[in-house]
Amino acid sequence: MKKVYFKTFGCRTNQFDTQVMISKIGACQIVQDELDSDVVVVNSCTVTNGADSSVRQYIASLKRKNKDVKVILAGCGSHSKGEELFDDGAVFGVMGHSEKEKIGELLSREERFYEIGDLNHIDTTVVENFIGKSRAFIKIQEGCDFECSYCIIPSVRGKARSHGIETILEQIRLLASNGFGEFVLTGTNMGSYGRDIGLSLATLLKKISYIRGVRRVRLGSLEPIQIDSEMMELLNEPWMARHLHIALQHTSDSMLKIMNRRNKFSEDVRLLEKISNAGYAIGTDFIVGHPGEGEVEWSEAIGKIADLPLTHIHAFTYSKRDGTSSAVMKNGIVNGTIAKVRHLELTNIIKDKNLIFRKNNRQNLDILLESGKDGTYKGYDQYYNAVDVQSDDDLRGNWIIADCMEVRDEKNWLKY
Ligand code: SF4
Repeated sequence: MKKVYFKTFGCRTNQFDTQVMISKIGACQIVQDELDSDVVVVNSCTVTNGADSSVRQYIASLKRKNKDVKVILAGCGSHSKGEELFDDGAVFGVMGHSEKEKIGELLSREERFYEIGDLNHIDTTVVENFIGKSRAFIKIQEGCDFECSYCIIPSVRGKARSHGIETILEQIRLLASNGFGEFVLTGTNMGSYGRDIGLSLATLLKKISYIRGVRRVRLGSLEPIQIDSEMMELLNEPWMARHLHIALQHTSDSMLKIMNRRNKFSEDVRLLEKISNAGYAIGTDFIVGHPGEGEVEWSEAIGKIADLPLTHIHAFTYSKRDGTSSAVMKNGIVNGTIAKVRHLELTNIIKDKNLIFRKNNRQNLDILLESGKDGTYKGYDQYYNAVDVQSDDDLRGNWIIADCMEVRDEKNWLKY
């Protein structure tokens, strides 16, 4: 029996895609050690030039250590770098996003293959289990219609398209019956769910909440302009995790324009205040050091950040991605050292805000513990704050309600 190892780079969407492939491997065996494998499937990320290099380096080092291994390139990188890596002989096979569900047949091939497929496909596979995880990630949507200037994703994942509602609900029913209580919805641009099939994200959420066993639903990243009145009405539902991740990307209006974003700060601030007043923690993505971010733009942006009710941040230092319009911008290139300083300034502000939020929200924390060893278990509360719980009992996969957390610098702590 062929031994297969999966290596996943990139985002949650890719993690989910790996699960789809794992559930379709047919007569092969999954191994946990790449050096003990006959085939390694590299589910790649191509979001920046750096991500491409990481994938390339991984493949090169793998082949140095295990020279007989066959490498199959899957994921976003198959669409941007697949041809090049195939022609160089660096990989045995290349498979595009639409070919994931055929992986069993591709794994059986003895001849090299290049099966890039198309960017219109939508998977119908129902993933029944997630090995070793207590939260289940559910991909509800694929692709993006936005055209942010720095982003290559629309050209490697295609236009926005929704997974069928019945496939999603079936997936959640199965996972809930297998013991999962928390569901994290993901997608390339998940807030666009339903637009192509006459539905909405709010409709899907309501249907998910009716499924027996669903205790909490978390949403992946939403665009501010996608949070409509129907979504706002759901904020008080008990099954909604009290944390939304809303991708602002910047807080200077001139930068938002350069980045070809659809959001505007004046609208973002009103939206975030409403959501925060409903008792939510709010995270965001922010790109620091995009071309055009001079001292004036930065001072404006950082001043505005201080006014926003943010509690979490994914701050990225801008990294060039060939093939995007940002990559050919010549004006206002930000020096790497300056970008690093700005990144630190930004993350420190949000760190302080997060600490204040945690001090003010220590009661009735609903925590799902996911992993742990040696008596310390790790999980997240409803606000997506990390928690360490010390206990003599094995708490992996358990929910606990806690009232007297010790608020430490990085995370909350509890003796249970
Ligand atoms: S919303 Fe913008 S950043 Fe996000 S995937 Fe679409 S184009 Fe890329």
